[in-house]
Amino acid sequence: MNLTELTLTELRTVLQNGETSSVAATQAMLDRIVAQDNDIKSYLTITDELALEQAAAADKRIANGDESPLLGVPIAVKDIIATKGVPTTAGSKILEGFIPPYDAFVVEKLKEAGAVILGKTNTDEFAMGSSTENSGYFTTHNPWDLERVPGGSSGGSAAAVAANMAYAALGTDTGGSVRQPASFCGVVGLRPTYGRMSRWGVVAFASSLDQVGTFGRTVADCTALFQATTGYDKRDSTSLDVPVEDFTAALTGDIKGLKVGVPKEYFIEGMDGEVETAVRTAIAKLEELGAEIREISLPHTEYALPVYYLIAPAEASANLARYDGIRYGPRIEGADMIDSVKQTRALFGPEPKRRIMLGTYALSAGYYDEYYGRALKVRTLIKNDFQTAFEQVDVIACPTSPTTAFKIGERVDDPLSMYLADIFTLSLNLSASCGLSVPCGFDSKGLPIGLQLIGNTLQEAMILNAAYAYEKSTNWNLNL
Ligand code: GLN
Repeated sequence: MNLTELTLTELRTVLQNGETSSVAATQAMLDRIVAQDNDIKSYLTITDELALEQAAAADKRIANGDESPLLGVPIAVKDIIATKGVPTTAGSKILEGFIPPYDAFVVEKLKEAGAVILGKTNTDEFAMGSSTENSGYFTTHNPWDLERVPGGSSGGSAAAVAANMAYAALGTDTGGSVRQPASFCGVVGLRPTYGRMSRWGVVAFASSLDQVGTFGRTVADCTALFQATTGYDKRDSTSLDVPVEDFTAALTGDIKGLKVGVPKEYFIEGMDGEVETAVRTAIAKLEELGAEIREISLPHTEYALPVYYLIAPAEASANLARYDGIRYGPRIEGADMIDSVKQTRALFGPEPKRRIMLGTYALSAGYYDEYYGRALKVRTLIKNDFQTAFEQVDVIACPTSPTTAFKIGERVDDPLSMYLADIFTLSLNLSASCGLSVPCGFDSKGLPIGLQLIGNTLQEAMILNAAYAYEKSTNWNLNL
């Protein structure tokens, strides 16, 4: 039995049957990280000793009859999520060496569930990017083609799961950062409804858009991690106090009569022809499985990109004001206090600097109403588009990304072309929907393509089940 090739669900079965131990699975993952991660570079920090301690503790719980669904399972955590006693950098030099004194809510939940934390994965600095090339440390490589990006900003998590260096992983999705790297790396990535997963302990980028999400090699695996880490948390004022359904039980694979909308605005010029073919074929498959397909319209789609790039930088410019060398991370001593703050803030890389400037400008007196205020109004129009659509259909199906993984270096000097990588994922964050990416084929270069399924507010169970039904009818996820 090659432990690293098992899915999370399969690992749980063999752990429970006593065919292997969590210590063995954790060691197998750590060995694989040593063997593969020099090339892929998905981890910023590997917590090997802690992981083996957690695994030994999980083995004891299993021996005592505990059957918690994540018990003993090695998981990776995006480095923007606080881990007590373990460095958390958000991919930025401005947080180099920062060791949080507490765990994020989702990490508390992982620990309660008895999961094993393998380490912290690479991210674009403060999750600003679509390729991990904006990481202050190094670029992560796509396991399918090392010359290509894994997507971003949760590229480290997606690559680690795709390359069997974690059974599942946590990421965050502010504008597509779980779904787009899932699509580029050929794994499943879920971005739940805003407020489903507590943001307590998640380094803030754009607070009205940020949301934790989960990656797995299969829909069931992605669901298992979501199930274990979601829930109400009073420390996050935007956390939704709603019941946690049994999402795993909802994976019936039955989608007969499910109304699936295909938004005409998502099949645009400039989209890769092979992506379009794969996504249209996947939609036909959903129909074969019993879904009813109809064309819908999300008329304000074209405004999502400019609206997002006003709102996200505006919120970021406020959130990033706290990095002054006084409270967190490194401090560079200057001639006086102002000089110290200036020199310390120079540790931000180019992308956060660009966004702080954009955001500060958009919020400044005289421009506030014209830019930020108008963006908020158009955000409402985008939100309304989704509400109207969900009066007609249950689920929306479209591509996750207009292209497959691009080459490292290809877009990094052209911010606009990088921003365009998220053209199909941004709208969801501006609305109150949830969404996921599930593998739906390969292009002629052998690179994975993702199908995006979008659900109405709190309809995670429905989109996960639709993805599950689709996945069962194909074997795209088993090709790595
Ligand atoms: N690529 C988008 C950005 O750079 C989205 C990032 C994210 O979802 N964190 O803002």
